[in-house]
Amino acid sequence: MNGKDNLLASPLRPHSGIAGISPYVGGDSAIDGARKTIRLASNEGALGPSPKAMAAYRAEAENIHRYPDGGCTELRNALGEKYGLDAGRIVCGAGSDELLDLLARAYAGPGDDVLYTEHGFLMYPIAARCVGATPVAVPETDLHADVDALLENVTAKTRIVFLANPNNPTGTYLPETELKRLRGGLPDNVLLVIDAAYAEYVERADYDAGAAMVEGNENVVMTRTFSKLFALGGMRLGWAYCPAAVVDVLNRLRGPFNVNSAAQAAGLAALGDGDFIDRVRSHTARWYDWTKQQLLDLGLEVPSQVGNFLLVRFPRQSDPDNGGRDSAAANAFLRSRGIIVRPMAAYGLPDCLRITIGREDEMRAVVDALGDFLE
Ligand SMILES: *Cc1c(COP(=O)(O)O)cnc(C)c1O
Repeated sequence: MNGKDNLLASPLRPHSGIAGISPYVGGDSAIDGARKTIRLASNEGALGPSPKAMAAYRAEAENIHRYPDGGCTELRNALGEKYGLDAGRIVCGAGSDELLDLLARAYAGPGDDVLYTEHGFLMYPIAARCVGATPVAVPETDLHADVDALLENVTAKTRIVFLANPNNPTGTYLPETELKRLRGGLPDNVLLVIDAAYAEYVERADYDAGAAMVEGNENVVMTRTFSKLFALGGMRLGWAYCPAAVVDVLNRLRGPFNVNSAAQAAGLAALGDGDFIDRVRSHTARWYDWTKQQLLDLGLEVPSQVGNFLLVRFPRQSDPDNGGRDSAAANAFLRSRGIIVRPMAAYGLPDCLRITIGREDEMRAVVDALGDFLE
């Protein structure tokens, strides 16, 4: 039985949005029969977690009979201090996914539209459908979010615009001026959610993660995560920077203990390990540039600009002259060498693969493999 048949066979009727959801499929973690695998499918942070975060996680074992601090007080204060933000405007969540979901639950429902961009992160349409709202995929221009197209698609039914900046999986970003133009063109009753999951990796003068826009407006929220640069995806920890009224709404809606104590402890320690953060940043920047250049030299298209992953375009599947060098063949070849990357058909990019920046040996292995594949 497929998923739909299961739903129909049951006498229970979930609300109408649920049947329209394609469950989120994460990156593979293993290849059958492979002894050693290189995992470059989920943007998990090249160097693993900070040793200090691991130690804090282990130390927390002594206390797991206690409920966590439901307000994540220490963590919010540390975030406030580190990024120069008002800790009172921060709400923590079990991954930023939970916060995106809570925002959809709070501000959208049946009959409402939720906008996201054509190749945007797939949790946005899922969050919209979960609350019975209609996800509207707005066309991008050259794999970049298009502010004019987004504004043209805003109607009286629009409640939320979800924008990943930089976007996953394209690795492109909108400069601050474009973000401001987007917010400026939105009615005050439409919430702009800036998902800055990769902000820690971006060092561009024209980029801003969005905190000042949150402080200057009633309808902008920025979400962040510990899953990428901080490499704590297994802990499920994210945070949102919000206007006061949104803080109030999220605190009503969330579970009272939504962030577990080990996640809080590990997050706090990771945040305080400045040396490790610097090391991850410089490693990633170096191997991002190196890998991108190698792939370009192999004749592949690499439209990504920033982040810890590269979107790579292969010769079109639909082109009979592609010489067997399309993305599906490339993916199979990489898997035969124990290398797991992310196929992109679900994102409307069937000719692309997304490759996370990992360790030096991992990047050399993937470049070598693609060199052999294209030979
Ligand atoms: C990975 C990712 C997230 C999810 O992060 P969690 O905090 O692990 O839930 C959110 N948005 C984008 C764009 C991502 O790539």
